[in-house]
Amino acid sequence: MTGTDHNNPLQPSSAADSDHDAEQKAQRHQQRQQKLKEKVDERIAAATRDKGLLLVITGNGKGKSTAGFGMVCRTVGHGMRAAVAQFIKGSWACGERDLLQQHGVAFAVMATGFTWETQNRALDMAAAQAVWQQAKQYLQDPAIHLVLLDELTYMLTYDYIALEEVLDALTTRPQGQHVVITGRGCHRSLIELADTVSEVQSVKHAFDAGIRVQQGVDW
Ligand code: ATP
Ligand code: MG
Repeated sequence: MTGTDHNNPLQPSSAADSDHDAEQKAQRHQQRQQKLKEKVDERIAAATRDKGLLLVITGNGKGKSTAGFGMVCRTVGHGMRAAVAQFIKGSWACGERDLLQQHGVAFAVMATGFTWETQNRALDMAAAQAVWQQAKQYLQDPAIHLVLLDELTYMLTYDYIALEEVLDALTTRPQGQHVVITGRGCHRSLIELADTVSEVQSVKHAFDAGIRVQQGVDW
């Protein structure tokens, strides 16, 4: 055997050996990366179709609405049109709404304070329906490239909007239009219909440590 015996603590490894080790490590890394690149390239080559996507961002962790608004920003950044229907936070201050309205993004928002504050089912349902009517128009407009239906999932949970109507509007929307649905506890039928579904998991949240919502982070 040539070179250094690495198991022998009395024999220090030489600089030449450590150069050799580093070289081997670099080579192995390069081979691994090359294999990975070939696999990724193969998959990229196989993905050739375009399609208006239905995306669902659900789960209990933070980041669902912000992911939705991230896609709205991307759309606007490319000079394409986007519209947002917000099914809960309408009457609240909302940083992304203030910004995106200045960039031509249409917003449909709840007229009332909504649910936990009003505690009036009939009023809440009417407010939800009003936003849904506007959302349906977005879902029929081929000039709108992306529609964000923020917190839509709760409208189905509360039965404020009929599932059949939502499924119908989604399946008959213009070809090529992307739709993002956010909210916890997404109905199974929407998950089945969707092309991309992400479940955001909560590992920890500052609120549980007694920290209130922070401007710019939470709204
Ligand atoms: P965001 O709008 O920040 O992306 P989200 O859409 O994932 O959050 P929602 O369920 O819509 O979450 O709740 C909105 C508000 O509740 C935000 O202020 C958010 O920080 C907070 N929130 C989200 N997840 C949690 C959680 N697991 N525990 C406590 N508060 C949360
Ligand atoms: Mg949200």
